Amino acid sequence: MLFDPKELNYSKIRTYLECPQLYRMIYVEQKRQPLTPLSSLGISLHRALADFHKRSGGLDELLDSYDAGWVGSGYADAQEQMSHYKRGQQLLEKYWEEQSQNKALVKWTEKIFEFPREEFRIKGTIDRVDQNPNGTWEIIDYKTGPEPIIEANMPGLQLTIYGAGAELGLGIDPQTLSYWHLSSGRKYSAPYDKAAAEKVTVLFIETGRKILAGDFPCNPERCPACLMKDQCRACAQEREA
Ligand code: SF4
Repeated sequence: MLFDPKELNYSKIRTYLECPQLYRMIYVEQKRQPLTPLSSLGISLHRALADFHKRSGGLDELLDSYDAGWVGSGYADAQEQMSHYKRGQQLLEKYWEEQSQNKALVKWTEKIFEFPREEFRIKGTIDRVDQNPNGTWEIIDYKTGPEPIIEANMPGLQLTIYGAGAELGLGIDPQTLSYWHLSSGRKYSAPYDKAAAEKVTVLFIETGRKILAGDFPCNPERCPACLMKDQCRACAQEREA
C-alpha cells in the first residue's frame, strides 16, 4: 500500500489527532499496530455482518459468515480466543433478533465513498446504509467499544464525515447518523447536520495540510496507552530527555 498524503479518511485523521508521531509510524513508515482481543473481535464481527448482508439467509448463515471471517490473532492464548469467539456469537444472535424486527431496507454494506475537497480526496467505508420505509436514509456504523464514550461523542467525527461522504460521494441525502452498539444492542442516533459536516471537512483539510507539511510531533500524554510505544523512537527519546 503506497502512502498517499492527499487521501484522507477518518482513521488517518483520528490517528493524527491522537498523536502525529503515531500517524507517521502507521501511514508513512507503514508499521503495523498490534491487534488486541477487542480490535480482533471487532474485525471478525464486521466481516461477518458485511458478508451476511451481501446474501440473504437466517441466523445459521450469519454464524457461518462469522466462522468464515474469524480472525484468530491478537489473543494471548486459545482460551482467551475461545471466550471472545463465544462472546461474538452471542452478540450476533442478539443482532439477528433486532435485525429481524428492522423494517428498513439494508441498501448497502461496506459502502465506499469518495469526494474531492481542495487538494485532497476524502474517502471512507460506511458499514451500512439503510433506507427506511418512508424513504429517508440512515448511515450506520457498528461499534463494540465502551458505550459511554460512544454516547458522549455523538455523532462525532466519524459519523459526521460519513454523512458528508454519503451526501457528496454517494449522492444521497442522509437524515440520520447512527452507531449500532453490538454489545448492548442499542442504537445511538443523531440527525445529519450539514453545517457540522462542513466544520469536520475543514478540520480534515487543516489536518491534511499538517500531514503534507511533515509536521509529526509526539503527544506524550498518549504514550502510556499506546500499542506502538515499544517501536516508537520519538517516545524513547522523550523518555531519555
Ligand atoms: S509512543 Fe507516544 S509518541 Fe510514540 S506513537 Fe505512541 S503515543 Fe505517539
